[in-house]
Amino acid sequence: MNSQQIKQIAMELGADLCGIASEERFSGAPEGFRPRDIYSKCKSVAVFAKRVPSESLYAENIISYTHINNLVMQETDRTALSISLALQDKGIPNVMIPTDDPLEYWEPENQYARGILSLRHAGYLSGLGYLGKNTLLINPRYGNMLQIGAVLLGIVLEPDKILDTRCPDGCRLCIDNCPAGALDGTTVIQKLCRPLSNFKTEKGYTLKKCYRCRNVCPSAAGTARTSHTNPIT
Ligand code: SF4
Ligand code: SF4
Repeated sequence: MNSQQIKQIAMELGADLCGIASEERFSGAPEGFRPRDIYSKCKSVAVFAKRVPSESLYAENIISYTHINNLVMQETDRTALSISLALQDKGIPNVMIPTDDPLEYWEPENQYARGILSLRHAGYLSGLGYLGKNTLLINPRYGNMLQIGAVLLGIVLEPDKILDTRCPDGCRLCIDNCPAGALDGTTVIQKLCRPLSNFKTEKGYTLKKCYRCRNVCPSAAGTARTSHTNPIT
């Protein structure tokens, strides 16, 4: 089976984007968080993404955005599960990665969590997009409204080309508009961001109260939207 066939399976099972990275491309990831630390037989990583409906970014009420994101997260895990089973049926050893929870690494003093594999970096390494100063994966067509999933594969595949794109020179809209001062252009300080991006209500709900760094970005919704005036800016 080749890269194109793997991508076709992923797209037929609900992915909107799919790219392939070689395992070696993850050599810069922290020890313990590389594909082979998770699954020693891994030789390639199939990274896919599902679109998140983008107009919710511009709605005044945060509930829709929160709910849509929660739903797409569940759908992304289901898609990863379907891809994993389909590849298993074709004799390809593989292990799926959760799109978000569960995770083990947690620094309580910094309110810092780290997933077993950085999926936004995986998206970059498989050619799905570039990493913006808001730390999000930005795909030229779909912008940053993506939920990412991955399946570690025990076979060697031709990797996709990494995109040679970055944020426009001089743009720092996301950094300047972060109400918590949590962005520095390369990382997000989770301790500052978390109380707003994962706001806990008295009743116990977790709401995405802030996504300013996402919706202020001129590339937020990709090429479909950038031809229009961004209503936020
Ligand atoms: S979600 Fe809000 S608080 Fe967190 S980095 Fe983005 S703009 Fe800042
Ligand atoms: S707002 Fe500007 S600097 Fe921030 S991610 Fe978008 S393009 Fe990059």
